[in-house]
Amino acid sequence: MMSRIAYVNGRYVPHSEASVHVEDRGFQFADGVYEVVAVYKGQLIDEQGHLDRLERSLDELRIAMPLARAALAQILRRMVRLNLVREGLVYFQVTRGVAPRDFPFPFAAAPTLVITARNKKFPGRDVKAVTVITTPDQRWARRDIKTVALLPATLAKQKAKEAGAFEAWQVDADGYVTEGASSNAWIVTKDNVIVTRQADHNILRGITRMAIIEFAKENGFKFEERAFSVEEAQNAREAFVSSASTFVMPVWKIDNVAISNGEIGPVGKTLRDAYFDAMDQLANDARTRSTD
Ligand code: PLP
Repeated sequence: MMSRIAYVNGRYVPHSEASVHVEDRGFQFADGVYEVVAVYKGQLIDEQGHLDRLERSLDELRIAMPLARAALAQILRRMVRLNLVREGLVYFQVTRGVAPRDFPFPFAAAPTLVITARNKKFPGRDVKAVTVITTPDQRWARRDIKTVALLPATLAKQKAKEAGAFEAWQVDADGYVTEGASSNAWIVTKDNVIVTRQADHNILRGITRMAIIEFAKENGFKFEERAFSVEEAQNAREAFVSSASTFVMPVWKIDNVAISNGEIGPVGKTLRDAYFDAMDQLANDARTRSTD
C-alpha cells in the first residue's frame, strides 16, 4: 500500500503528518490563493494557464511567488510521480505566510506553499448529463482572484448536494448566472450560439473555459461572451459546466426545468471530445519525447 506524500514549504512529508502553523494567514484570514490542475495519463493539463493564473492571483494580493515558476513546475511533476497519479488532481495553495494575528500585511512573512496530489478517476468521453440548482451569488466583488475564501462556494455546494444536484449556479442581483460554485457556466441557444459570461471581476476566468473557447472557434461554432439569465438557460438547447476536474460536463436540468433527456448534446459532445483529443495528444507527445 503506497502512502500519500504532501509538500509543505520545501519538504515532502507523509500526507497524514502534513500541517501548517496555527497562525498561518490562510487559516486565520483566508489570505491566500490556490490552483487545481488535472492529471490525465500522467500529464499536467493546461499547466501553463494555471501557473499564469496563480501568478496573477498572487500579484493582485501582493503575495510573493514562494519559488521560481520553473521550480514550482518541477515540484508539481515530482508530486505526481511520488503519489503515483495517472489520473487525478494536483492542488497547490499559497498563503501570505505565518505571522502574529493582525489584519494588515505582516512586515516579514515568507509565503506558505502546500501541494497535495491524489488519484481520481474522471468520467470519460461518454458522460451522462448532470443537474444544477441556482442560488444567490453571495461572494465578494473580486471573483477573478482564485482565493481560498471558499465559504460561499461551500454553502452553495452543500445546497446542491442536499438537492441531489451536481453543481449550484450562482445568480447575481439582476437574475443573471455568474458561474458555478467551482465551475464556469455555459449554454447553447436555440440558434446554436455558445454563450458564457464575460470574464471580468464577477467570475473566475477558468483555464478550461479558455481552452473551450479555442475549441469552439476551431470547430466553427458561433460564440458570445455575455451574461445569460436563469430563464434563458432553462430555454436553451444545451447547457454545460467547465472546470479543471470536469472538462466539459453536460447539464440536463436547471432547478426544476429539464432542458434535455439526460444525454450530452451535440455541441457539448464536440467540445468534450476536443478536450479529450487534446489531452490524448499531450500524453502521446510526452511518450514520444521520453522514447526519443
Ligand atoms: N469558477 C470557479 C468559481 C471555480 O472555483 C472554478 C474552478 O475551481 C472554475 C470557475 C473553473 O476554473 P478552471 O477551469 O480553471 O478549473
